[in-house]
Amino acid sequence: MNKIREKIKSLGLQPIHKMGKYQKKYFAIVECPTCRKKRELPFEKIIYKKVFTGLCLPCERRTKMGKNHPRWKGGERYCQNGYIYKRVYEDDIYYPMADKDGRMKRARYVMANYLGRCLDRKEHVHHKNKNRTDDRISNLELVDYREHLRQHYAERKIDKNGRFLPANI
Ligand SMILES: [Zn+2]
Ligand SMILES: [Zn+2]
Repeated sequence: MNKIREKIKSLGLQPIHKMGKYQKKYFAIVECPTCRKKRELPFEKIIYKKVFTGLCLPCERRTKMGKNHPRWKGGERYCQNGYIYKRVYEDDIYYPMADKDGRMKRARYVMANYLGRCLDRKEHVHHKNKNRTDDRISNLELVDYREHLRQHYAERKIDKNGRFLPANI
């Protein structure tokens, strides 16, 4: 137990003990470095952590969101409608193009970045090779939305019952 007490003290924490049902239980008062909330933690919750940050649960969760999340892929993710979406933040000059969740099609972002300006709603970005995940600028074309829709509707395929399949825009 002395070794553990040393370790606790080396973290700058003050060990305290309480009487449990059968044995003494050791705690330390830990202050969250972010929100400054104080809480009592049992020793084992402190010493068996690879890196003890002292963060409380809500603060720790917050650090893992967005850019800090271990699965962060540069804010890009594949969506069911076949496009890659990109997460942007208020400090991004193309943020006005994003939806209320701060997301936009990556193709639109790439095109806006290429042109150096935000795209208008009436401006669509077409994938020349029909692969909507291929957002290389060479594969993208800025088109008027009416022309874009007309083109894709004209290319619609017909299923075995003679019905139009949804346009692949
Ligand atoms: Zn906290
Ligand atoms: Zn298109």
